[in-house]
Amino acid sequence: MRRQYLDLKAKHPEAILFFRLGDFYETFDDDAETCARLLQITLTGREMGRGLRVPMAGVPFHAVQGYLARLVQLGRTVAVCEQVEDARPGAPARGMMAREVTRIVTPGTVVEPGMLDGARNNFLLAVVATPVARGGDFPTWAIAYADVSTGEFRCTQFGGPDGSEEVRREIARIDPAECIVPRAEAGPTLEAAACAGRVVTRWDAWRWELGAASQALGRAFGVATLSGFGLDDLPEATRAAGALVAYLANAHAGRPPALDGVATYLPGRHVRLDPFTRRNLDLDVPARGSGPSLLRTIDETRTAPGARLLRRWVGQPLVDVDAIRARHDCVASLFGDGGRRGAVRTLLGSVADVERIASRAANGSATPRDLHAMRESLGAAGRIAEALRDGPNDAAAALADGIDPCVEVQDLVERAIFLAPRAAPATPGRFEGAASNGRGAGDPLAAEPLVRPGFSRELDGLVAGVQEARRWIAGLEGVERERTGIPTLKVGYNRVFGYYIHVPTRHADRVPADYVRRQTVADGERFVTSDLKAKEDVVIEAAAAIAKAERQAYDGVLATIAADAERLRATASALAAIDVVAGLAEVAVRRGYVRPDVDAGTELEIHGGRHPVVEASMDGDVAFVPNDCVLDGTGRWALILTGPNMAGKSTYLRSVALIVLMAQAGSFVPAMRARIGVVDRVFTRVGAHDDLAAGRSTFMVEMVEAAQILRYATGRSLVILDEIGRGTGTRDGLAIAQAVVEYLHGRGGHEADASAAGRTRTLFATHYHELASLESTIPGVANARLEVLEEGDRVAFLHRVVPGAAGRSYGIHVARLAGMPRAVTDRAAALLADDADDRTPGGTDAPARTGRGSGAGKGPSDGDAARRVTGTPARVGPMQLTLFAPPSHPVAEAIREVDVEALTPLEALNLLAKLRGMVDRA
Ligand code: ADP
Ligand code: MG
Repeated sequence: MRRQYLDLKAKHPEAILFFRLGDFYETFDDDAETCARLLQITLTGREMGRGLRVPMAGVPFHAVQGYLARLVQLGRTVAVCEQVEDARPGAPARGMMAREVTRIVTPGTVVEPGMLDGARNNFLLAVVATPVARGGDFPTWAIAYADVSTGEFRCTQFGGPDGSEEVRREIARIDPAECIVPRAEAGPTLEAAACAGRVVTRWDAWRWELGAASQALGRAFGVATLSGFGLDDLPEATRAAGALVAYLANAHAGRPPALDGVATYLPGRHVRLDPFTRRNLDLDVPARGSGPSLLRTIDETRTAPGARLLRRWVGQPLVDVDAIRARHDCVASLFGDGGRRGAVRTLLGSVADVERIASRAANGSATPRDLHAMRESLGAAGRIAEALRDGPNDAAAALADGIDPCVEVQDLVERAIFLAPRAAPATPGRFEGAASNGRGAGDPLAAEPLVRPGFSRELDGLVAGVQEARRWIAGLEGVERERTGIPTLKVGYNRVFGYYIHVPTRHADRVPADYVRRQTVADGERFVTSDLKAKEDVVIEAAAAIAKAERQAYDGVLATIAADAERLRATASALAAIDVVAGLAEVAVRRGYVRPDVDAGTELEIHGGRHPVVEASMDGDVAFVPNDCVLDGTGRWALILTGPNMAGKSTYLRSVALIVLMAQAGSFVPAMRARIGVVDRVFTRVGAHDDLAAGRSTFMVEMVEAAQILRYATGRSLVILDEIGRGTGTRDGLAIAQAVVEYLHGRGGHEADASAAGRTRTLFATHYHELASLESTIPGVANARLEVLEEGDRVAFLHRVVPGAAGRSYGIHVARLAGMPRAVTDRAAALLADDADDRTPGGTDAPARTGRGSGAGKGPSDGDAARRVTGTPARVGPMQLTLFAPPSHPVAEAIREVDVEALTPLEALNLLAKLRGMVDRA
């Protein structure tokens, strides 16, 4: 057995090998140690030949899914090895059981329902890049991704200077459970770098060659040419798609689940969102992540496929105006028609995950319960179609056309498939009087039938043939109790000994002479009689034939359903779309959203806009303050928003971006009115955040990101800059921020000539009031500020955006609001006042005055007292820092000496350790 184990293990060195031994899957050696640690199961040992004892850890076969799920979640791969000869009960296994790896479970190839999250797709993604030498100046990239649990399969390829970013964007959007990349001889590859931070599996290089990949695709879909899939001109996409199907076939030991056929797509048909923007706007949370998100806020779907589709809509907002309006039309008809909306949503409540069930039917793993859930769902689908048509002949009614209730499938399942009552403690089994009174696993009498009596004549015949023997066994307990007078005598079943009569120890003296002892157990002894043995032979023999016939009948049903898989999937996707638009209509009604007007222009006009997520998280007493935003690529294209910390700048910026993205995803928006010239790309950048994992310091990150915007923003893009330039000194930051705005203006000018689009619509929030001066120097730039109400030395933030620039930072006021002790804030105010007195006019203080000037007469900041406490923002920043740490503390001194910009991540960690040491010693 050890040799058998080692042979199998050698074939799957990268996987944990689950080796089937009786009722357990065992792991050995290093695998055992890994599993004991990760699964918190007991590590034991086992003799393996002379004097060899190896570590072993096992899990019971009936609970294997849970353990597999946990390992796979941790990014591990498990090779499952089964015994492939069937073990007859009673027949002692002679010689070595043959074993085979029947399945390689990896995060991206899971089909088991217990291991999947209904609300999200489980994508496997293949990525490949052609070396620069073959692809011109830039590598050509291709990705293919598939969800084996739904059959969805897509691929694309792209190149050009933006290719590397595009591939990162797509991977972030798809959020695959597992990435496969070509295995390389040495060194890091482009592909592996693009998948950084994810589960990456390397897959043999030859699988990615065009020939091998085309063949793999041809085999997978049973076609001689790939032209039908539109892959003729997409060799790189073909390579990725082919490698992916080959990987799947391998993971499923040559019997891969069926995919839908591969569809090509163009990333350019959707709004381009880089990974940072997705995160920054909280569009969605990553798998197993927590916290609020746009998706969570607007998800009122009632089915798992609906939830998955909404995730796709939110992740991939459209750029095609007609397609966007078509979605709005559907939402609008259900928005205004509470009756239809309610009826449809109620019916959706009884719709199961038809998409995944159809896939399981196609690959033969659907259970009877699955099939009945599908039958019920199809019935509900028919009623949903009726409900949608029960009203005006509008966009919602048209959705009903996508539904095909597949009546024959419903009918077939109804006729053929046995449905056991849910969670019935005593399943009656196939035979009357054969209640499974805990006789034990494997008892043929307790086996739940798959197929209804009357469906298969052959099966019914076999069943009838052993009815007498079965009745006899089922009645034996009563008969023997009477005969022996032992009231607690039991008839049971076990895999090794077959049927037996159990007699508790204290009745041992009443055992009749014809009982033959088979086994002694803790609480008694087990016997057989020659009659029981004879009946058992009949039953066991027939059970095998019945099981075979039944499986055949069942597989026949599955095959009939699989032949209809396309119709089923089409209906499933129609239902998902209905679920999404009904959910969007529902959330729009509940939260007071309106239909946005999306057109091909370059304007952006939002009246009374709100931040959907912040608004939803606010409790009843406080109301979200709505704000307007009016930009136009050919007119007032940029808004510079100033205001103190906590005033609501970031919230405002994000609300604008979210409203645009919601609109283009097909949703209504949180506003009074919105007109949106369609946006091709949204960039958001936030100053002063670190990307230590990638080994870049704050300022570096900011500049890399800003450079990207300057390179790629078009006249249709929306750019949101929140405090960029913060990662460096005030003067540098200001200079860079100003140069960025000037550049966007100049570049927009050229584009305006070329493409008749406008300048990049830009929102720039900053606490540098100095930037407000740009309003007077660059055409199309306007100032806005967040209104602050001053009452003596206190401030209240009104969260209202008004024209003009802010005059001051209110850092000390914010400190007061935060509950800083009065003595400290008073002292800070005094220091600030001294500082202002010491200053000579000019220097960095001068632009601040300009900024204040442009808001003259509007803000409350023009009084003398206010002027006295106003310093430059750069001085307020460090001042706040010193409030937190008394100047004399050695740790503070040490921190002060640090040149943050010059630190490498490693140095930063070392420094942190040193500081921690100083604190511990103090
Ligand atoms: P800033 O970027 O100016 O520092 P934020 O946008 O982070 O400020 O806003 C600070 C807090 O103010 C938010 O967490 C939110 O609770 C609240 N807030 C912001 N905008 C509004 C608004 N329009 N209505 C109500 N509360 C708001
Ligand atoms: Mg902010």
